[in-house]
Amino acid sequence: MPSSAASVPESARVTPVRGSYDIIVAGGGPAGYAAALGAARAGAAVLVLEQAACLGGIWTAGLLPWIIDQHTRGGIMGELRDYILNQAGGTLVGTTLGVDPERLKLRLETDLVEAGVRLRYNTMLTAAHKSPDGRTVTHAITESKAGREAWQARLFIDCSGDGDLAARAGCGFDYGNEQGLAQPTSIGVIVTGIDPDRLEAELPRPVRKVKLCDMLRAGGLEPSYALPGLGYLGHGLFFYGGTHQYNRRFDDPDALTAALIDARAEVHRHIEVLRRRGGLWADLRLLGTASALGIREARRIHGRATVTVDDIVEGRSTPRSVCRSHFGLDVHAPDPERCRGIDKPLELRPRPYGIPWEALVARDCDNLLMAGRCISGDFLAHSSYRVTGTAVALGEGAGRGAALALQRGIQPAELTDEDLATFTADLADR
Ligand SMILES: Cc1cc2nc3c(=O)[nH]c(=O)nc-3n(C[C@H](O)[C@H](O)[C@H](O)COP(=O)(O)OP(=O)(O)OC[C@H]3O[C@@H](n4cnc5c(N)ncnc54)[C@H](O)[C@@H]3O)c2cc1C
Repeated sequence: MPSSAASVPESARVTPVRGSYDIIVAGGGPAGYAAALGAARAGAAVLVLEQAACLGGIWTAGLLPWIIDQHTRGGIMGELRDYILNQAGGTLVGTTLGVDPERLKLRLETDLVEAGVRLRYNTMLTAAHKSPDGRTVTHAITESKAGREAWQARLFIDCSGDGDLAARAGCGFDYGNEQGLAQPTSIGVIVTGIDPDRLEAELPRPVRKVKLCDMLRAGGLEPSYALPGLGYLGHGLFFYGGTHQYNRRFDDPDALTAALIDARAEVHRHIEVLRRRGGLWADLRLLGTASALGIREARRIHGRATVTVDDIVEGRSTPRSVCRSHFGLDVHAPDPERCRGIDKPLELRPRPYGIPWEALVARDCDNLLMAGRCISGDFLAHSSYRVTGTAVALGEGAGRGAALALQRGIQPAELTDEDLATFTADLADR
């Protein structure tokens, strides 16, 4: 007989410890890849725990290999730029890089394997074990086909995008805007069958989004995102970003499942409407939709400093800035009743700004760093620093800073200005 109980008790378990490392990186997206590589090159023994079956996060599993705010950066981002432009046949559109996601997938994996990083795919971080005083994470707990496992490390870096490790370790966090709404999700899509030169001639970039929306409307379709993006990645491939799914929380798998179903169906309708136009679009073909929905915004973990919109408007930077960001405010409207495009405060004038090291250091645990979109910031600041060129720089900074702290036998928060200066110069112009 099926039980009607609202919950079931589970017995206490003893979980096997599968390995011990200097540094564990949770999540192998743009930030996690760079964190692992930076730490391993600095001599640390590193494990990456990744729920997907590849590195790259939004670039690869998310099918959005379109790298914004990379142009000022050296270090690992500079190496990737050289690879993308000189070996992978990628594109530079303004200051943004486009690349075939499969090439990137292989390159990221090769880099980490050659640096001696241990990769564990298909493994989701589900819990954290801490010291009795609650200040130190001792083990990451995962679930996979191998069951429940524990992984020990001296330092941890949360690069899960959603802040899963920090949240499981009991760290405080913020979510969404003042109304508790986060930016919408979107599905990444790769299309082919368009001539890139003809596209540029018929739909030049400054008007492309508005014209695409007009075309969809002319075909009888009201897109959920009024500013659809179409960018050339090289090798005949384009990314297409044409949908928004509103009010779907990152931690609600039912809502995300429904969002994925809606988004895929809508994208197929977009492609059909465009193909019916003939001409430039006659051979348009959908190559793939992402298997994971693109989550723009989830937890912003509390750090020992918080990046604020005032930092951006005033262009603040200090010797403790890990890197600088040059990207403006980019809020995809959380409330579709207000608008279905970009909804940012037009009166604010963003300037390049520095991201303080302390925004990467968890407030509530001593041996935990964050990198990528889950660092400590307010709603508007997050809309700027979340892009992937910045995520790579933050990841590399976290990895190199973590390795240095271990070598010096200090906590990450104790790194001096001189310590930070040993690696921050590589991460962006100062
Ligand atoms: C729809 C959309 C469009 C965007 N467009 C652009 C753009 O054009 N250009 C740009 O530069 N940026 C863009 N962004 C922003 C950018 O993609 C993200 O903010 C960026 O991915 C941040 O990098 P990250 O490494 O922090 O996170 P992610 O790329 O999200 O990587 C996180 C990784 O952690 C893994 N992970 C998560 N939870 C767990 C867990 N519990 N256990 C194990 N692994 C886990 C994930 O599988 C993933 O591989 C876009 C974002 C979205 C959602």
